[in-house]
Amino acid sequence: MCGIVGYIGDDQAAPILLKGLEKLEYRGYDSAGVAVYDGTSLQVVKAKGRLKVLSDMINGGKDVPGTVGIGHTRWATHGKPSDINSHPQVSDSGKFAVVHNGIIENYLALKDLLMKKGKMFVSETDTEVIAQLLEYYYKGDILEAVIKVINKVEGSYALGIICADDPSQIIAVRKDSPLIVGLGKGENFIASDITAILNKTRDIYRLNDNEIVVLKR
Ligand code: GLU
Repeated sequence: MCGIVGYIGDDQAAPILLKGLEKLEYRGYDSAGVAVYDGTSLQVVKAKGRLKVLSDMINGGKDVPGTVGIGHTRWATHGKPSDINSHPQVSDSGKFAVVHNGIIENYLALKDLLMKKGKMFVSETDTEVIAQLLEYYYKGDILEAVIKVINKVEGSYALGIICADDPSQIIAVRKDSPLIVGLGKGENFIASDITAILNKTRDIYRLNDNEIVVLKR
């Protein structure tokens, strides 16, 4: 399994993401990471090992500024546990960051296709094709790109996506992997499980398969 947390609001995102991921530790994981929009670009920090390794790197999240972000604890299915294979996975330009729970069954064919189009892959994960595909399809409309990607990938997924071009939103979608939305006041959340956000809200919406969420403050 793995854990996903996302936050958008007015508070600093990284400490909230780490706290949420802590609550998902019971699901088991081999590495962890966060991506936060810092006002200019996406800051991505990730590390193999316990959540504490990541947390110590960024001073409990305090060293990463920004109020919108996504976090992940990974249970490797494609590619060994390593810093590079940890999530979030990012697109070539660093514009898109993605956290993923599940397995993309046709990732090799998609990876092949994207490499022929000149995309450079750095990880061994199936998830990286999602980040790269998003950028490949992106022509200024993030939601449109997400829809094109989910029509292309086969398998199971819960996804949290942020794009540096529009940090006023997190996009989330799921198929055969769990994902919920937590509704707050002036802040909203996504998570694999309610335990990750119970200290913040009890107003929960459970996503259906293939339902897409555009999460704003
Ligand atoms: N298949 C993805 C990977 O190996 C996601 C695994 C997970 O759900 O943590 O990176």
